[in-house]
Amino acid sequence: MNSEQPHAKTGRLVVVGGGTAGAEAAFASRNAGWSGEIILLSEESYPPYHRPPLSKELLTASSAFVAPDPLKGAPLYDRKNIDLRLNTSVERIDRENRLLQLNADRSLAYDHVILAVGGHARELPMLSGFDRPAPNVHTLRTIGDCTRLRAAFRTGRTLMIVGAGYIGLEVAAAAIESGQRVVLLEAAPRVLARVTAPVVSRFFEREHTDRGVEINTETTIERVSLDPNGAVDRVWTSDGTQYPVDNLIVGVGLAPNVQLARHAGLAVGNGIVVGEDMVTTDPRILAIGDCADFPSTIYDRRMRLESVANAVEHARRAAATLTGAAPKPWQLPWFWSHQYDHSLKIVGLSTGYDETRIIDDPGSRSFAVEYLREGRLVAVDAINHAAAFRSGKQRMSEAVHT
Ligand SMILES: Cc1cc2nc3c(=O)[nH]c(=O)nc-3n(C[C@H](O)[C@H](O)[C@H](O)COP(=O)(O)OP(=O)(O)OC[C@H]3O[C@@H](n4cnc5c(N)ncnc54)[C@H](O)[C@@H]3O)c2cc1C
Repeated sequence: MNSEQPHAKTGRLVVVGGGTAGAEAAFASRNAGWSGEIILLSEESYPPYHRPPLSKELLTASSAFVAPDPLKGAPLYDRKNIDLRLNTSVERIDRENRLLQLNADRSLAYDHVILAVGGHARELPMLSGFDRPAPNVHTLRTIGDCTRLRAAFRTGRTLMIVGAGYIGLEVAAAAIESGQRVVLLEAAPRVLARVTAPVVSRFFEREHTDRGVEINTETTIERVSLDPNGAVDRVWTSDGTQYPVDNLIVGVGLAPNVQLARHAGLAVGNGIVVGEDMVTTDPRILAIGDCADFPSTIYDRRMRLESVANAVEHARRAAATLTGAAPKPWQLPWFWSHQYDHSLKIVGLSTGYDETRIIDDPGSRSFAVEYLREGRLVAVDAINHAAAFRSGKQRMSEAVHT
């Protein structure tokens, strides 16, 4: 850590972003001994909440109104003296005067800042380049997005999903259970192509098609037509098919929120560039979570990850940096997904694997895939198979930490 950043554990720490990374960083800093002010700014109107249920149980919940699941109970903010300010966005960082320019012409002085600003859902030019946004084209990132999408779910309607990654497949599972026609378009030759082996893709393709999801791989949108209200009412796809649609959801990935950092002159790569201590190119500003481009000592390269486990780990590292504590060793990345009654758990990153080993029979609905590179285990996908997940995680952790 840079010498400009004394470990005084006092002063005003402002955390920008009320997602998992931001909320965890505020609490972890207090728990690690930060005795100064901690202000947590969130541009959302709900206190920090769990995002994973937005594409899972909250989409299928039968109640008319769904509330987000809070990350921390309301009394905890008082108890830990964390000043949570909702509906507050940072519009600019004035590094010279150590001021954050907020919405509504307000400003806030800081001693240290943690940027935990996450990202926004990528859009498709084909579905977003209209004079005004089409009211039936959705993305899914916030509780507001989830509520709008739920309101659009009606038996007998047609939902087109663009992108067969985790979020696209989770929404497909929820939508088909709600009695809609679900048409899934994926540009790659198979679902989850970027993150799993073909055997895992085949398993999930079968589970979805058996329940009625129409999966079209190597297919993209060619053109669309709008109704008089500006809603997309018809889609022509690259395989020559024409679909009448009621709603569309675009699940083609996340773009990190780097504008604030870029305008402030901080280094930006595939996210806000930080060191292992989560400090940006300004020693008073740290960045964590989905928005941070960090050096992984486990993988010996820079990366950006989008997962709850990564956000929590970054938050604890940032707290250690600010309070002068020794950080815990890096943990292996891990992720999960739920579709229907299936649990997929992934540990490690399979990128660049040259061999796979299948554990148990994919036909039995409980199996796992181990990914190896040059004979070394680098990742495990476990489908309804907790034992394979645990064992893979343990073997990889031992290899990394010895
Ligand atoms: C639908 C969905 C399902 C998911 N499912 C899983 C899952 O099953 N497993 C898993 O591990 N991960 C999952 N994730 C990813 C996981 O939720 C994130 O990786 C994790 O929450 C870390 O996010 P973050 O805090 O870095 O960013 P975010 O959660 O994006 O939070 C960033 C916050 O910063 C706010 N913000 C941005 N700019 C400003 C500004 N200028 N001023 C003030 N506030 C600002 C944003 O409004 C937002 O509240 C899912 C994500 C989504 C959207």
